[in-house]
Amino acid sequence: MERVRKPDWLKINIGSNERYTDTKRIVESHKLHTICSSGRCPNMGECWGKGTATFMICGEICTRSCKFCNTLTGKPHPLNSDEPLHVAESIRLMKLSHAVITSVDRDDLPDLGASHWANTLYQIKLLNPETTTEVLIPDFQGRTDLIEMIIAAKPDIISHNMETVRRISPTVRSAANYETSLKVINQISKSGLVAKSGIMVGLGESPSEVEELMDDLLENGCQILTIGQYLQPSHKHFPVAAYITPEQFDIYKETGLKKGFKQVESAPLVRSSYHAEKHLINKHKK
Ligand code: SF4
Ligand code: SF4
Repeated sequence: MERVRKPDWLKINIGSNERYTDTKRIVESHKLHTICSSGRCPNMGECWGKGTATFMICGEICTRSCKFCNTLTGKPHPLNSDEPLHVAESIRLMKLSHAVITSVDRDDLPDLGASHWANTLYQIKLLNPETTTEVLIPDFQGRTDLIEMIIAAKPDIISHNMETVRRISPTVRSAANYETSLKVINQISKSGLVAKSGIMVGLGESPSEVEELMDDLLENGCQILTIGQYLQPSHKHFPVAAYITPEQFDIYKETGLKKGFKQVESAPLVRSSYHAEKHLINKHKK
């Protein structure tokens, strides 16, 4: 596929300030991983400069290899049992009022990492009782007992990304599938917690396919949707099919809100965890 030229609206300010350096120091001194750096997120300058980051637990090596993702892939190391405490301590040092946690997929573990997840959430609450939490979870192979362990740890928002529309899903997601992801969203929403999802656009989808995805999410109780431009992390990854215009992102936002989402973040640089604290206004609303 021919390479598409990056438009001006995707040029970002890398800039760093004192808070950025502090965030980096805390993350590095606790030997933590973040999706901000492993995912080469374009918002790092802004988020780290404001003292927010998205922690990635269960190690840094994923057992899956999605074609759009920059996370390391292969045979993961054993879980670090200190990680839950380190994440909780970092959140305290960073004085985060809202913490976002995600993880690599651990298909190698008998519980796919669910108890490590739950332990992390308990440690965060213990050390930071005032901090609200948002978790961006894998599909846990659709195992409802494991998803229930996350629900029981009572994060404020549970997010599970659909990543892309139904047709493109098998091409770019390595093991996850569209229907299983919808079931994950359904289980979260039925629990009474806020269900959130995110997609990338620019992978070759059409606006009507995005609308179909919105309908599928709404039918399964999803309340918050994020839509951002896919950026190819390296030439080895899936190529960008199109740079979606800011105007089209606005149309997606308007359409999503009209269809019934409580909140839609839709702009080229939006990521699942971008301005995540804003999503708390929808907490426990149905
Ligand atoms: Fe990346 Fe896919 Fe692994 Fe998620 S499951 S971290 S998107 S490779
Ligand atoms: Fe990190 Fe999310 Fe901000 Fe990107 S948008 S820098 S992943 S917190």
